[in-house]
Amino acid sequence: MTPLDCPRHPPADPPVTLRLNEALQLLAHSGLPEPTGEPGSVQWMQRLIDALVDLSSRDALTGLANRRAFQLALEREIDRVARSGEPALMLVADIDHFKLVNDRHGHAAGDEVIRAVAAVLADSVRPMDLVARVGGEEFAIILPNCPHTFGLTVAERIRQKVERMSVSVGNGRALSVSVSVGGAFAPQWVRSTPALWLERADLQLYAAKAAGRNRVLLEPTADSHVSHDEKRLLFDSTSFQDFL
Ligand code: GH3
Ligand code: MG
Ligand code: MG
Repeated sequence: MTPLDCPRHPPADPPVTLRLNEALQLLAHSGLPEPTGEPGSVQWMQRLIDALVDLSSRDALTGLANRRAFQLALEREIDRVARSGEPALMLVADIDHFKLVNDRHGHAAGDEVIRAVAAVLADSVRPMDLVARVGGEEFAIILPNCPHTFGLTVAERIRQKVERMSVSVGNGRALSVSVSVGGAFAPQWVRSTPALWLERADLQLYAAKAAGRNRVLLEPTADSHVSHDEKRLLFDSTSFQDFL
């Protein structure tokens, strides 16, 4: 190493420039109000940060949670289920034959349909549930503390509401679409991963598509996928009996 490579004084940090104008423009562009309070005050900065955090977890087209927020919520929910043993359901919904909507009516009409389906989903769940847009015309919902019958009711309600709705897409045109919905419960006694849980819900969605679309399929029971042996791995034979 030459002396030139090793300066006696490390370079000073460059001066910090707060890009507040850009942040405020971003909020305005997204239709959000400026933070209230004295500009530059700690409270004002905190509100600005809160608004930016909120913005970064939302999907711009629908206002639902985006994929990133969904992943975080999923990890939190897995922890919660592992601690509490409460049943939690994940639903995944995908618009049927959506490519045809784009092909026949244009991308803007497709966007209107996505927005309308998102509104139905958001309108069909409890405040504690999280609805996210996780792909183009794919949605996912996390329903904490959700009994099996309630999960089925919610999924079926969503399917029927979408089937009945009519979306105006300009020039007096109105479109109807349907959704297929798959669902899986988080394993109550075995720690899962977001990927494994999503995969099980997706399997049900694929099965619903293969069975003809416009239908709901949930994994049969809340803990059918946790075998006797898996439970035994977690609990010794005496305490295990208490859980049966
Ligand atoms: P399937 O019933 O099997 O789900 O058929 P599908 O036609 O819905 O198939 P697929 O899921 O592959 O099609 C998704 C299409 O969604 C393809 C893509 O062009 C379109 N898409 C993805 N994101 C957007 C978006 O933000 N807006 C619009 N208008 N279209 C999108
Ligand atoms: Mg689709
Ligand atoms: Mg799709």
